[in-house]
Amino acid sequence: MDNLDNKTLDFLSDAYANAYPETKPFWEAAEKDELLLKTCHDCNKPHWYPRMICPLCGSANTGWLNASGQGTLYAFSHIEKADPPYTLAYVQLDEGPIIMSNIIDAEVSQLKIGVPVTVTFQRMKEGRKMPVFRLSE
Ligand SMILES: [Zn+2]
Repeated sequence: MDNLDNKTLDFLSDAYANAYPETKPFWEAAEKDELLLKTCHDCNKPHWYPRMICPLCGSANTGWLNASGQGTLYAFSHIEKADPPYTLAYVQLDEGPIIMSNIIDAEVSQLKIGVPVTVTFQRMKEGRKMPVFRLSE
């Protein structure tokens, strides 16, 4: 992954990553291959996606949590007819939230609900790095 794009693009040039200023710490962490979750200091539950108000209790008393990057496959759909084919998935993080993502570097036959997966990051052509998952070692 040592190509020119990785040297010239980053999340600062990505309109999606910059559309919501409150998510900036998330994209900064993603640059370091770290997954951040927003967590609520009132109901003490992490949530996805990052936002200013806790969707579980309505509190604005939220902060960032370093996620383990570990989770399990909650649901998936392999899109064989796409070019290239890809696997869309819901992953339940060990911290609790379920996030929509992609599974990479796996054969469909290896995928089963509940298998452990680990986060990794892929840079989008727009510049931001997005969390995706692969089967855990
Ligand atoms: Zn809350």
